[in-house]
Amino acid sequence: MIKRLSLISASVALGCIATILPVMTSIYIADEDAERREQRDLQEFAAKAVMRAELVTYQAFAALSDMGAAPGKTCSPAYIEQLARVTFNYRYVQDAGAYGDGQYLCSPLLGDVRARHLTMPPPSWRSNDGYLVWFRQKYPLSDAREDLRIGRNGNYVSIDPQSYVDLIDPARRPIAVINIETNTVLAVSPGADGDDMLRAWNQAGHVDNEQWHYAAARSSTRPLGVVVKSARTSLFSNWTGLLAMWLSVGVLVGGLLGWVAFRRVTRQLSFPATLQWAIARKNIDVNFQPIVNLASGECVGVEALVRWQLNGRFISPEIFVSVAEENGLIQPLTDLVLDKTIVELSTLLRSRPTFYVSINVSSEDLCTRRFVNILTTRLEGTGIRPAQIRIEATERSFMDADATRETIAAFRNAGHPVYIDDFGTGYSSLSYLQTFTIDVLKIDKSFIDTIGQDAASSIVAPHIIQMAHELGVQIVAEGVEHQVQIDYLVQRGVQFGQGWFFAKAMRAEELGTWLDERSLNLQPMNQEHGPIET
Ligand code: C2E
Ligand code: MG
Ligand code: MG
Repeated sequence: MIKRLSLISASVALGCIATILPVMTSIYIADEDAERREQRDLQEFAAKAVMRAELVTYQAFAALSDMGAAPGKTCSPAYIEQLARVTFNYRYVQDAGAYGDGQYLCSPLLGDVRARHLTMPPPSWRSNDGYLVWFRQKYPLSDAREDLRIGRNGNYVSIDPQSYVDLIDPARRPIAVINIETNTVLAVSPGADGDDMLRAWNQAGHVDNEQWHYAAARSSTRPLGVVVKSARTSLFSNWTGLLAMWLSVGVLVGGLLGWVAFRRVTRQLSFPATLQWAIARKNIDVNFQPIVNLASGECVGVEALVRWQLNGRFISPEIFVSVAEENGLIQPLTDLVLDKTIVELSTLLRSRPTFYVSINVSSEDLCTRRFVNILTTRLEGTGIRPAQIRIEATERSFMDADATRETIAAFRNAGHPVYIDDFGTGYSSLSYLQTFTIDVLKIDKSFIDTIGQDAASSIVAPHIIQMAHELGVQIVAEGVEHQVQIDYLVQRGVQFGQGWFFAKAMRAEELGTWLDERSLNLQPMNQEHGPIET
């Protein structure tokens, strides 16, 4: 359970990382890209603003040039008429007038003001090519507004500074136009701070600001500079929201990954894989069930029966043996049973040279001489006689008749008696079985169960016993549970029995005690040997 949880939580964490990392990386890349785009757009916008500033300036120059061509004397009606025409013709020109001796003289809007002696302040700056410029001056017509005035040869034009900066821009990005010779702000758009923009101009637009991008551009023909700025639209500005959103996606993806991983791992931890692991770790035990001489009651040997406890529960050998057979694990399982049997019973087998242990093998073990060779090798130097290790094979495992016949012969030649297990359940004909040379038949429990019962099936038991006799081999009755069965079997010439009547399969340590107690109880009964004397 803990393993499953940690697997899933590891997968969720991995899923989060696997989801968030690429997402955040792509957001970062997108953010960088967006920033580059914004900067490029802003630079283009600055260039446009420069064009506008130039346009306004050149319009003022053109207006002044037209004013120079005014007919008649300064401030004559024809002169003022020409100024009015200029004012009307040039969009950005608000008023066009004449000045002299530091005074306003006349303009279409002011009229003839020579008699009023209106003072005109000295210009703020004089350009190399002879233009005079008044930055942000109060005009006699208004106390509220300031204009930008450009003059030459006694004429001037009044321009609304906003003309320099009121570009059509849906994003309403702030603009400032600067006279770069005097480092003076000529005009700022609403929302722009003159000082801030001038600072940005002096840093050539490279301002380190988290909220704003700046861009600067300058005119190639006039000493004009422009600074524009736009709000940064960082994708990371709402990074907590983004993180939360992608974290939930990550958890979802991680959960999904976890589920898939869990499915995969559980498949890997499937029954066959777990069995393979148990075999490799030798986590499988062998118990031993006594085989008894029915007439004397003496235990002549035992059958090795494999036991596997998985998560505290015993799995039936019927189940996992067939799983081992289907998954190519039966040979290592047979080897393990042999190894454990030798280790656990060697002392007993050495001390009782006629005592034996029979080992169950599968059809795969009967196809080749592999297990015969292993058996021979393992027994070398153990002091255990080959006849003490016997082979049990079910009728059903006699599939490949030729190969099996050869292997059975090899077992027998190596000194290991061969038993046919579960005899009667494989529906082999007597003539077929006669083609195999075997030593002992084990009559299946299902026939022994019918002994003493009135069931119709009980007529099969004597028939099976009869068949065994006809094969001329010794018989072990399996699954003996009642005295009445023993009486019946002894009467029919069945020599040996195995079953819960005598004992269930037990661990090697228990077997020693059980045998000691049994021989004490049986004394002084006759000492009959096991089924095969070799
Ligand atoms: P089997 O070889 O015919 O073994 C006899 C089975 O009958 C054993 O079941 C044994 O516990 C059970 N048995 C013996 N006496 C009685 C009784 O009086 N009453 C009842 N109800 N049952 C009794 P187990 O241990 O569950 O083994 C089942 C089968 O699994 C074995 O049948 C054998 O075919 C197979 N098996 C067991 N160990 C191995 C092994 O090491 N290798 C192979 N290939 N197969 C094995
Ligand atoms: Mg058996
Ligand atoms: Mg059996």
